[in-house]
Amino acid sequence: MSQTASLSQIYLDANATTPVLPQAAQAAMTAMKEIFGNPSSSHITGLQAKNLMEQTRQRAKVLLGTGKGKLIFTSGATEGIQTGILSGLIKARENIEPGKQYSILYGATEHKAVPNSLEHWSNILGIDAEIKAIPVDNLGNLDLEFIAREVPNALMICTMAVNNETGVYQDLKQLELTIRNHNADVFWLVDCVQALGKRPLKLSETSIDYAPFSGHKLYAPKGIGFIYIRDSAPFTPFIAGGGQEGGLRSGTENLPGFAALNVIFEMLLDQKNSCFSTAETLEQYRQQLASSLTAAFPEIVFNHSFKNSVATTLNFAVPGFSSKELMDLFDAANIRVSSGSACSSKVTRSFVLDAMGLPAWQSESAIRLSFGPAMTQTEVDAACDRIQLAASALTHSCLMLDDTQLNDDKTPLDGLVQLRGGASCTWIYADQQTKQALIIDPLPELEQRINTLLECQQLAPIAIIDTHGHADHISGRVALAQKHLKHQQCDHLGWPKSSEQIQLDGAQLHMIKLGELSLVKVTSPGHTDDSISLLLTTDITKLKSTTRFAFCGDTVLMGSLGRTNFDSSSSSKMFHSLKRLEQLIGRNTLLCASHDYNNEFTTTLMAEMMRNSLLHDVLKGQITESQFVSRKANLDANLNDEVGTEIMCGAYTSDCHKLAIKEYDATSLKQELGQSNKVKLVDIREPHEYALQHSLGMETAETSSSINVPMTRLVQFIQEHQADKTSEWVLVCRSGSRSLVVAQAMQRLGFSNIAHLKGGYALSS
Ligand code: PLP
Repeated sequence: MSQTASLSQIYLDANATTPVLPQAAQAAMTAMKEIFGNPSSSHITGLQAKNLMEQTRQRAKVLLGTGKGKLIFTSGATEGIQTGILSGLIKARENIEPGKQYSILYGATEHKAVPNSLEHWSNILGIDAEIKAIPVDNLGNLDLEFIAREVPNALMICTMAVNNETGVYQDLKQLELTIRNHNADVFWLVDCVQALGKRPLKLSETSIDYAPFSGHKLYAPKGIGFIYIRDSAPFTPFIAGGGQEGGLRSGTENLPGFAALNVIFEMLLDQKNSCFSTAETLEQYRQQLASSLTAAFPEIVFNHSFKNSVATTLNFAVPGFSSKELMDLFDAANIRVSSGSACSSKVTRSFVLDAMGLPAWQSESAIRLSFGPAMTQTEVDAACDRIQLAASALTHSCLMLDDTQLNDDKTPLDGLVQLRGGASCTWIYADQQTKQALIIDPLPELEQRINTLLECQQLAPIAIIDTHGHADHISGRVALAQKHLKHQQCDHLGWPKSSEQIQLDGAQLHMIKLGELSLVKVTSPGHTDDSISLLLTTDITKLKSTTRFAFCGDTVLMGSLGRTNFDSSSSSKMFHSLKRLEQLIGRNTLLCASHDYNNEFTTTLMAEMMRNSLLHDVLKGQITESQFVSRKANLDANLNDEVGTEIMCGAYTSDCHKLAIKEYDATSLKQELGQSNKVKLVDIREPHEYALQHSLGMETAETSSSINVPMTRLVQFIQEHQADKTSEWVLVCRSGSRSLVVAQAMQRLGFSNIAHLKGGYALSS
């Protein structure tokens, strides 16, 4: 690996925004200090400002071939989009014929600024037209037949030149032919934000009516943009006032923004003397990055074709990894990329890739890597090195296999691991001494991850068990058992037939050994007739005090009891199962459920009784079986059947309110650490994120003294610290969101002195 993989940030998110190019920043600074006049002033300072403004406009007009069309400066593309849409719709409204059906068309992969503005303005203008998305094919190309069919009745059509997520560009000539052959007069807006500097544009040679642009996508500052308006297109000022921009867009002009744009336009007009690379060079950079990504993640899939997308965008997915996981990985490696659409980072899947009809997993795991034309070979090399480093961190933490490193110094896995697929949980218990493992409630989507973990840690599963026949999802058990336990005889839930029989409290139970631990099976019917609970204990004669974990399936969930309205459910049986469970394991054993709808990780009967009055009343002996049955039926009747795409298995989901948590910011935490050695820092990021930060030499005062407890190992950590619930644990992560969730979960379980670093490392370095 070359020396370039050092700690510096590698910014590969140019489609979201770009840094201001130093030459542009310098020009903006000069405008602020020297050419700061108001272009409307008639004195020399004002005239100089006006001159700069007009020079910038002139360069833009030449660059974009605007001919007789207008070019108006705006605050950015969103304003340009409003301006174009408002102008088009106001005019179109004048010609609406009563009783006729109209539509407004936009591309299904358009930036949300477009459909949201269409809806907003057509509502405000009282236009009764159906706003229709034009479908795209799986390459992202607009459906021309759809347009040909729909455009005759359209008031306006909005398309984009280049997509911000995939870089896919449209064949504007072809599109124009289709539109104009079927409607010569429809107002046509083309969002050109991502095309500037990446695609040739000669606007006056087209019949595009409105073309908005943005400065911050191409090395100018935020807050400056512009819009082209065809000379024949109607126009209504979006901002009225002092009459600037010839009355077309009022407000004192953004001179520093013009100065920066002016430099960018100059470079685009004279590429030979600019720091912008040619299209061929940019394509070579993309190929190099794609090869590096493929070497690092051999199973990578690119979500778009490189043949119809600009060279500066790569959108990909890696099987088995969500985009959140990949984002966390890249961020820890100090590489900035984006997931789904950067414009709404909470969205976990990409509507663009969904519109292209890509498989759900590709949309859920999508990562966009984008750069600008000022990218250099040195930066590309550094990015490739860093990508490799990020991938090695994944192999080190056993999330990806690397044959060459099978016997390296991976931290041996010992104890409980909680894996998740949506709100469902799979539990793996690894016994390092015997190199054996138990797998409980395996989800099919985690099959590859489980296999990788087992192989990487060289663990042999001795049992793969479901706690019940799951109604909401198919179990991954059979596929895993076929690979790992081909010859084991077991029942329909995977419980081995060779298990030992034991007598406990007069009852016959079954158990299997895992090193020094025993896994005891207890039938706990209710949610389903075949529900079991699995108690992992060090001493079968003292289950109450020695059970480390009780895998209770859907019998007791965090904030709820398993629903009992399936055909094979029985709430009477659940009543007895709950009592029996308490009798065996007491109220303080950690329960490991097969769902976790509220990010609470684990619970105990005691913690549940405090917020679940039905469970409370059962365990306190305050209600009879029939009272339980009737109250439970009421709860089940009010069950919200589906959350997103998941069927809810819990029958009582209210009152999962979040606790207030003590917060530190970077300064107060530093102070606290300086004053007291009692504070214990827990970094809850995944091991690969933690390792990357350390290997890049990016420790801060916080990271260097922390221990790493990833969320997948949290329940093990909680179990090991049951006797130490009063220490001050301060949880830290990348952005402060995971640490808050974990802090809330721990506080609920009685850790009384929990705090977290608000804003995470992101705000502390
Ligand atoms: N259109 C596209 C394709 C974009 O990528 C963006 C920004 O992400 C916008 C419009 C909005 O631009 P601005 O941030 O200048 O308002």
